[in-house]
Amino acid sequence: MDTLIKLSSIVKTYHMGDVTVNALRGVDVSIDEGEFVAVMGASGSGKSTLMNVIGCLDVPDSGSYVLDGHEVRGLGRNDLADLRNTKIGFVFQNFSLLARTTALENVELPMHYRHGPKIDYHAAAKNALTKVGLGDRLDHMPNQLSGGQQQRVAIARSIVNDPPLILADEPTGALDTQTSIEVMQLFIGLNNSGKTIVLVTHEPDIAGYAKRLIKMRDGEIISDEPVKSRAVGL
Ligand code: ADP
Ligand code: MG
Repeated sequence: MDTLIKLSSIVKTYHMGDVTVNALRGVDVSIDEGEFVAVMGASGSGKSTLMNVIGCLDVPDSGSYVLDGHEVRGLGRNDLADLRNTKIGFVFQNFSLLARTTALENVELPMHYRHGPKIDYHAAAKNALTKVGLGDRLDHMPNQLSGGQQQRVAIARSIVNDPPLILADEPTGALDTQTSIEVMQLFIGLNNSGKTIVLVTHEPDIAGYAKRLIKMRDGEIISDEPVKSRAVGL
């Protein structure tokens, strides 16, 4: 398997007045294409900072990050945005959909930032929404959809540009148990179709859907192991 993510000695420090927070203290990790990784750790342990670095949303103070063969360090804003757009789909706890905008238009959004051959935005967005089981909700606004349906729209948006990597920061944090299971089944399906998934969660049950579990504490990785007891029904 090819390496998709390679982080070496990644350091990220935040300064707030006199206070210094070592959000990441020299993180080394490699993730191959096709992996399904869960990241756990107490609040403040650096999980979101790690996701932001992997997602090219935040730049580390030092260390090297190679994403799908591209060294991220030194890239300017536009190159970072291009890399992010072609390589990564994002899913957040709060769905982050545009209000008063249909499901279809929400899913079309990432395609407006892509380069390359013109494609049929409508057809591609409809196809992505159909994949997540919302082919009959194209014209619904977010406030006309349940939380689980909104998260499925967000997942459709994350795959519409067909990126190799999906980053999900507590994607089930705002959902009930049954809906969480349905959302996790979608991630399983995406992983089975070849997507690499890195997912932050507080819940051991949710981490049980992944194949590999990374635990963080105080800005460091304290364990990194295969998931032994995977969720039932997989
Ligand atoms: P987690 O997602 O595991 O809860 P974070 O990565 O959000 O942790 O935060 C790690 C540490 O860095 C925390 O102490 C947090 O307060 C601090 N931190 C995160 N983002 C910022 C920021 N933009 N400015 C200052 N401190 C931050
Ligand atoms: Mg967080």
